[in-house]
Amino acid sequence: MTRIERLAALLDEPLLVSGPPYVLGGQANVRYLTGLQSSNAAVLVEPDASATLFTDFRYAARARAVPGVTFVETARSLLAAIGEHLSGRRVGFEGAHLPYGGYRTLSDAGVEVVPSAGLVESLRAVKDEFEIAAMRRAAALSDEIFAALAQERFTGRTERELAWWIERSFREAGAEGVSFDSVVASGATGSSPHAVPGDRPMERGVLVTIDAGCVIDGYCSDCTRTFAVGEVSKRLSELHALCLDAQLAGLAATGPGVHGRDADAASRVSIEVAGLGWAYGHGLGHGVGLQIHEAPVLRPESTDVLEPGNVVSVEPGIYLPDEAGVRIEDLVLVTAEGCERLTQFTKELLTVE
Ligand code: ZN
Ligand code: ZN
Repeated sequence: MTRIERLAALLDEPLLVSGPPYVLGGQANVRYLTGLQSSNAAVLVEPDASATLFTDFRYAARARAVPGVTFVETARSLLAAIGEHLSGRRVGFEGAHLPYGGYRTLSDAGVEVVPSAGLVESLRAVKDEFEIAAMRRAAALSDEIFAALAQERFTGRTERELAWWIERSFREAGAEGVSFDSVVASGATGSSPHAVPGDRPMERGVLVTIDAGCVIDGYCSDCTRTFAVGEVSKRLSELHALCLDAQLAGLAATGPGVHGRDADAASRVSIEVAGLGWAYGHGLGHGVGLQIHEAPVLRPESTDVLEPGNVVSVEPGIYLPDEAGVRIEDLVLVTAEGCERLTQFTKELLTVE
């Protein structure tokens, strides 16, 4: 079955797929269904699996080449044109993605619009062979870049310099781009999970957390390692060991049929026993694919149930305010037996100079 056919099988009424709003690489749901990378497109999928693709002149040549859909070229004001086209019909829309202004445009044009949630995302959560192959390559490239990074000099260079080194290395090695702004967070800066790289030269004796990923054939990788810059205290190396212990427990718990919240809980045990549960303030992980954050999620409140073909991150962290942070993250594929690590670079505490 095509992706459009699989979506149609979930529908009782037509669904206008328009999201998410523009991100690097195009609107992921539209791209997933049609292959079209665009910042201004929508696809109407009917329960009988017929589909209409709407976009403007800038994307028309490529849209015309999309197989299995009827193409309608619109003016730049996409939703006004779609509103005219669908006036008088009842149509589902993606509640998480259609901006309120767009909702008003459709309803003012006489379209009866009804919200829906997460349908394309639920299909995207289970990767096919092509997607898995792309993600394997993205993860393998991450491994290469982390191995090269571990040979780089850190002392005296700024976080920002190293972040640029990472991004440039990914591009030079053939990636289409980076999957998010690289995180290079040393010393006390590392106590913020999504720190912004700064301008101070790095010192010895600190931990540095590096979180980076690349895009291959539209698919993201995501990997975090924490290095020691020069020799670090016993306390810091023990912090790293504790995080690694939690990460291994998270990996062991990740497999088919497991609830997101249960995998998350498994990764918390050793950190809580050490009295640092409060310092692990985010979830264990998230789905990765066309987007860096997608379904399913591994968090304390997650009701998602993992299944073979899910690709998720497993990334516990410990953050001590004004002192240090550590996070270790693998990208894994959920298999019939458990999970397979796609990122394979060593997780031992490496010392960089
Ligand atoms: Zn990450
Ligand atoms: Zn992540």
